[in-house]
Amino acid sequence: FTPEKYQSLGYNRVLEIHKEHLSPVVTAFFQKPLLLHQGHMEWLFDAEGNRYLDFFSGIVTVSVGHCHPKVNAAAQKQLGRLWHTSSIFFHAPIHEYAEKLAALLPEPLKVIFLVNSGSEANDLAMLMARAHSNNTDIISFRGAYHGCSPYTLGLTNVGTYKMELPGGIGCQSTMCPDVFRGPWGGSHCRDSPVQTVRKCSCAPDCCQAKDQYIEQFKDTLSTSVAKSIAGFFAEPIQGVNGVVQYPKGFLKEAFELVRARGGVCIADEVQTGFGRLGSHFWGFQTHDVLPDIVTMAKGIGNGFPMAAVITTPEIAKSLAQCLQHFNTFGGNPLACVVGSAVLEVIKEENLQENSREVGTYMLLKFAKLQDEFEIVGDVRGKGLMIGIEMVQDKKSRQPLPREEVNQIHEDCKNMGLLVGKGGIFAQTFRIAPPMCITKPEADFAVEVFR
Ligand code: PLP
Repeated sequence: FTPEKYQSLGYNRVLEIHKEHLSPVVTAFFQKPLLLHQGHMEWLFDAEGNRYLDFFSGIVTVSVGHCHPKVNAAAQKQLGRLWHTSSIFFHAPIHEYAEKLAALLPEPLKVIFLVNSGSEANDLAMLMARAHSNNTDIISFRGAYHGCSPYTLGLTNVGTYKMELPGGIGCQSTMCPDVFRGPWGGSHCRDSPVQTVRKCSCAPDCCQAKDQYIEQFKDTLSTSVAKSIAGFFAEPIQGVNGVVQYPKGFLKEAFELVRARGGVCIADEVQTGFGRLGSHFWGFQTHDVLPDIVTMAKGIGNGFPMAAVITTPEIAKSLAQCLQHFNTFGGNPLACVVGSAVLEVIKEENLQENSREVGTYMLLKFAKLQDEFEIVGDVRGKGLMIGIEMVQDKKSRQPLPREEVNQIHEDCKNMGLLVGKGGIFAQTFRIAPPMCITKPEADFAVEVFR
């Protein structure tokens, strides 16, 4: 439908089409859903010609900007040459991409499996963990989101996305070391620029909360998965759960505990990878850990449906001994040229550095709002992955009622700013714009919130 056709149909008819053929829950995100027509870098345009600053990037996905000219040009060139060959054939884009992507990961993470979505990547990582460890049980945090395939639903533990599967699939949840909401919350021992202006309430080495959470983690290991741990999945910062950060040092100790029991450690970089966190290219690097398997999607293709799993030669070999892994679309030529162009743009335009600089600038401005307003309970995150948690008051930390959060969300949209929501009560605003945003645009977002 052209914008003119959209307008002549009328909004209500479009809504009917959507509800009838696509999804009955269409109104969940905005009271009046947007009819989007066009995107350019950090901007989106609706069918009526209104423009919006996209501070959620199509769910933390448009890493380098909507319809980035360089990515478009690479895709267009490849469209006229070869769209598809299944993975049984060789083609130049896949080899070029494999070399570029592998160069961004430390040894021994050098074997790449190209797939199509984050859920599929995590499914495959689960298979690898089981094949390599010869064990079955996988652990993930409460509040984690790792996908919505039947397998990854066992790992996902947040709000309405969680589903108890009959019979289970050997996944156990463990307490999330949530620095703000957990039982030992309130301390500020997390890796966020906001902590430079906040006084830490922990012991000098910032480890009280971490130690308590580690005890809980040990408890899960010894009670739930005592005989058979295959792997541990963690997002370096939880995205869907509302940009939840762990105490510094937690992940490092948790990885050691898992490995001591024969399990493998998986970093789910679906939201945190590709420079979004600013200080490092990968989220796991911010925790000073080296995972055995890294999964990635979303920002990898700037919105093109592609994903990857990267692991060690040993784990890849264990998988190969169990099955021949194959999928039709993974690593198709179009996806590979898009992926290569995205990596080039991130480098050429210094987007990781821009994430660090503009992200830190914006975080500190949001932190001031936290000082000004009783309903801003917490401001956290790193680079361009920011969470603003809304509460009724700072003392009780009760989440702000859903209707009020939704109203703020809607008001932001009406003022030209699109942001996300997350957390178990959808009480946290999530800010994750394309990494090309500027400081004046960050100022605009902060002022809209104010
Ligand atoms: N892992 C994380 C951390 C995610 O945030 C998501 C999606 O939001 C997924 C996995 C699943 O990715 P996909 O929606 O591409 O299947």
